[in-house]
Amino acid sequence: MNFIIFGPPGAGKGTQAKRLEEKYNSRQLSTGDMLRAECESGSDLGQILKAILDGGQLVPDDVMIELVAHAIEDEACAGGFILDGFPRTLPQAEALDEMLNKAGKQIEHVIVLEVDDGVLLDRIKARAAETGGARSDDNEETLKKRLDVYHEQTAPVLPFYEAKGLLRKVDGMAPIDEVTQQINAAMGSKAAA
Ligand code: ADP
Repeated sequence: MNFIIFGPPGAGKGTQAKRLEEKYNSRQLSTGDMLRAECESGSDLGQILKAILDGGQLVPDDVMIELVAHAIEDEACAGGFILDGFPRTLPQAEALDEMLNKAGKQIEHVIVLEVDDGVLLDRIKARAAETGGARSDDNEETLKKRLDVYHEQTAPVLPFYEAKGLLRKVDGMAPIDEVTQQINAAMGSKAAA
């Protein structure tokens, strides 16, 4: 099954995607993880990407679209994929549609984790403290930027999927297990939540 986990920074997309991989025989494709791996490689591209990530900005659409187009063709995604962090702009959503159409594939659900901005800020502060600042974009200043970018550029993707009847809204502020249960329930229904 192919589906998208959608939501603001710190909503728990990665946590939930990892829990869903086995049940749905689908591979998590985290664009954030892919980008961070490239940053850590120390390549020239990695250095450019690191500056973008640390600034809380988005990586250009053409770079992201090419990255995801390759990733979904990988053998590891034969059973399906869970997109975590993509699409993040309307052009990315449109490009995804196009690449899936060509491949004869489709997205079956878009799970939206809804979390208030204040809660996100608290979570990211906690994550930064727990991991000793392992993610250099997990600080208050960059998070505020990432939240602005989410509201301005990423949230407008929601009506695109709503029009297709694919949106399933889930309370991302519930305890982790409950969020997983809500997602499983939403995946079983075709009705917009
Ligand atoms: P979070 O959801 O907590 O913001 P991610 O790991 O998904 O974290 O993304 C981290 C950063 O990677 C983003 O702030 C952005 O700079 C970059 N990024 C990830 N996915 C995309 C994308 N689809 N388009 C543009 N930039 C992206």
